[in-house]
Order: sequence, then structure tokens, then C-alpha cells
Amino acid sequence: MLFPRTKKIAQQQSWHRTKSTAFGSYNNYLFFISDDSPLDLTETHCKYICILLKPLSAHQQELIQKEFERNLSRLNYFRLDVQETSVTVATYEKMFTFNTQNLYRIMDYCVEVAGLVGATSPTNCQKCDSDKQLDAYDWNDTGRILCKKCYQSINQQITLQQHDLINENKNYGIGFVGSVIFSLPVVALWVVVAVYLELLASVGALIIGFLGKKGYDYLGGKTGVWTPYLLILSNILMVITANVLTLVVGMYQEGYSVGDALYLLQHNSGVRTAFFINMALSFVLSFFIWIQLFYTVKEQDSYIVLAEKMA
Ligand SMILES: [Zn+2]
Repeated sequence: MLFPRTKKIAQQQSWHRTKSTAFGSYNNYLFFISDDSPLDLTETHCKYICILLKPLSAHQQELIQKEFERNLSRLNYFRLDVQETSVTVATYEKMFTFNTQNLYRIMDYCVEVAGLVGATSPTNCQKCDSDKQLDAYDWNDTGRILCKKCYQSINQQITLQQHDLINENKNYGIGFVGSVIFSLPVVALWVVVAVYLELLASVGALIIGFLGKKGYDYLGGKTGVWTPYLLILSNILMVITANVLTLVVGMYQEGYSVGDALYLLQHNSGVRTAFFINMALSFVLSFFIWIQLFYTVKEQDSYIVLAEKMA
């Protein structure tokens, strides 16, 4: 998301934008401005102003650093990051008190310092340096100036990846097996904790959820629409196994045989109630992991499109 001041500058300068960055030329230099996530509910928000430059020598980088430090108070910024091909200035945006002047002042100063050390911005394709058929693109939410050829080759790569490469040599079955294997030590630990230490072991459900996902990825489980369901199925099986084992081992300790324990589970209401309460508690805890799975397990959706022009 772009904040109003970033948007305003982008409109004034006829820049392009991605979801979270506005970018374009200002006084012959290439600038990128982005905002901190508005979900971060701190008192102030951050703005990042980045000037893109052709490779700087170590000496040039040092000069830039010194110049900025000299003007720290005047420019009202709190962080500076000088890299080989970029200088990024971070500044606070206080709600309702910030205006575009401060941003322009920082941009003007970037231009001034870049000129002072003899640095220029790249004007050609950022991938192959061609100067033909250039356009502004939005590549996975990053602004890029690319030639048509580079755009086409990136686009083709993304299409290929999405169909095959991401999931090459991966499948759902092996992921499921991985998920179960990684969960088994937790099941064992769960039973030991519950039986011998008499502690509430249902917390193990959370760990099973976590390790199940690790095991799935470790053995090369396929990432797709079925992934969360398979992980949940594996979790459910493991949680049921852990609860049944806890009961059986616990009763075995008290002198019952395994057969007796299973018989009582089926026919004794007291045993059954205790069992189902523990089971329900485990699933309530697992539920939090499951919700997260649906949010985090997604196919990587790479994209490249022409960047939207601001006007
Ligand atoms: Zn190119």
C-alpha cells in the first residue's frame, strides 16, 4: 500500500507504481519510494527513499555517507544505507504532520550528493543494459525498468516454473510420509510426559503441527491446494495416536492389559469421557495451527506485469 504523500509525489512526477512502491525519474535520477506496512500500528510510519545509481566505488560510497551524516539534523532521517548501486534513506512519517516538502528535500539532497560524487542513475534495461523498448514493470512487487526482450524471458520463466519446476520431483505422498515421520517423536514424548509426569501433554498438538510441516517440506512434499488438507490429516492421525497411546500406556502402568484398556475405552463411560476431553483439548490447540496452514501454505505466485502509471 502507498501512503498519500507517496502517491502525491508519484502523481506529480508521473511515476509508476507497484503494490507497495512508487518509482520513476526525478531530475534525471531513478527513485523508489515505499512505505512501511500500515498494519504495523506504531505511532509513526517509515518511508524509504531509494536512489538507484550506477556502481559506486568504495571512495564514492564513503563520500556519500559523510555528506549525509553532515546533514543529519537538517534532513530529518533516521537511517541511511549506502550500497554499491543504491542509497536508501529512511525517514519517519508522523500521522497528519508530514508533508511532501520533506520528501522532496531528501530527494533533492540525494540528487545533489550524487552529482557531487559524479554518480548517475542507470537509464537502460536493468537486466541486459539494452536501451531499446524500455518500460516500467512490476516484478513481484518490485519496480524494474526492463526491455521487452527481458520482460518476455522473465515472463516465460515464471510460466514454466509455475507449471513444472517448483514441484519437480515433489509429490503429495512423500510429503505426507515426511509429516508423519517428523511427528512421531513428539507422539512418543507426549505419551511419556502424560503418563510419567502427569502433565497436560496436549500442548504436544502444537508441536506436532509445527514439525509435521517441517517433515513435509524436508522430504519434498508438493506445495499445492491439497497441502494444508494433507498436513491436517497427518496432524489428526498423530493426535489420535498420541491420545490412544497415552490412555493405553497409562492404564498399563496401573496394571491393566492393553486389551483391557481398549475394552474400557469402548465400554466405560468415565474412561471415555476423560479420553474425549483430552482429545478435544488437543484439537482445539491444533486448530490454531490449521488456520495458520491455510494462510501460509500457498503456491509461490510469481508475476511480472507492466507497472501501473500514476497520473
Ligand atoms: Zn533487457
